[in-house]
Amino acid sequence: MGNILILEETTKNPLTLMGQRAGVCWGGNITDREKNYKRGLECLKSGHGRVMEYVNVEMVLDGYSARVIREWYTHIGGAPTRLQASTRYIKYDNFEYIVPERIKKNEEAYKRYTDMMESISNTCKYLEEELGMPREDAAMLLPLGMSTKVVDKRNLRNLVDMSHQRMCNRAYWEYRVLFNDICKALSEVSDEWKYIVDNYFVPKCDISGVCTEKKSCGRVGKKED
Ligand SMILES: Cc1cc2nc3c(=O)[nH]c(=O)nc-3n(C[C@H](O)[C@H](O)[C@H](O)COP(=O)(O)OP(=O)(O)OC[C@H]3O[C@@H](n4cnc5c(N)ncnc54)[C@H](O)[C@@H]3O)c2cc1C
Repeated sequence: MGNILILEETTKNPLTLMGQRAGVCWGGNITDREKNYKRGLECLKSGHGRVMEYVNVEMVLDGYSARVIREWYTHIGGAPTRLQASTRYIKYDNFEYIVPERIKKNEEAYKRYTDMMESISNTCKYLEEELGMPREDAAMLLPLGMSTKVVDKRNLRNLVDMSHQRMCNRAYWEYRVLFNDICKALSEVSDEWKYIVDNYFVPKCDISGVCTEKKSCGRVGKKED
């Protein structure tokens, strides 16, 4: 569906970097790569979350819906930042959009859905080209299902925390797809990233051992059980 581009400013070896930063405070030998790696791993295992804030992740999220990006923006811990494709400068008379699988599978739903998208697209074009309305006004019609592009920057601590919420089966399906794409893209950056993704990007029930959601998916027992 969408695409994740990990930018070169992303920390290549997050464990080594974390160990190097922690080593400064502990009077350790920060010129030894192996020692930095081991120290970083220990920090992570011990839950010294502050060191995760030195690990930078910069990426382009492309082709996900404006709706899921709206949810993405709720993760504000650690003051992440981002830029999003403009609805004033980019022409949207032929915008791309997400079609959920359940809609794709139902012939009538699919037709209604795509007809509506086409109608919005045509109306945007008509307002702009025939009636001379400014694009920023026509853009008011754009749906949450349209796909968008974001340049995003945040730290590892924020992403680990996000994984607990968004790898939960109760999270919106597109967010789970998006998060899975991020896991895959980061795992390909280095072995250190693969280790972190495999072991620390987990749903919140893996941390607490119980389900804290009101409506449980049943993966683990509820707290009150
Ligand atoms: C199943 C599900 C349903 C949802 N439904 C809705 C919904 O209907 N409407 C909606 O708006 N959102 C909804 N959300 C989003 C959710 O409410 C949170 O906004 C989202 O998960 C981001 O918040 P966070 O605490 O997880 O992350 P962050 O905001 O990134 O916070 C991470 C951690 O940082 C710390 N922190 C962050 N900010 C502060 C602060 N100001 N002061 C002190 N500590 C701070 C806290 O320890 C926090 O736990 C839903 C999420 C899920 C998974």
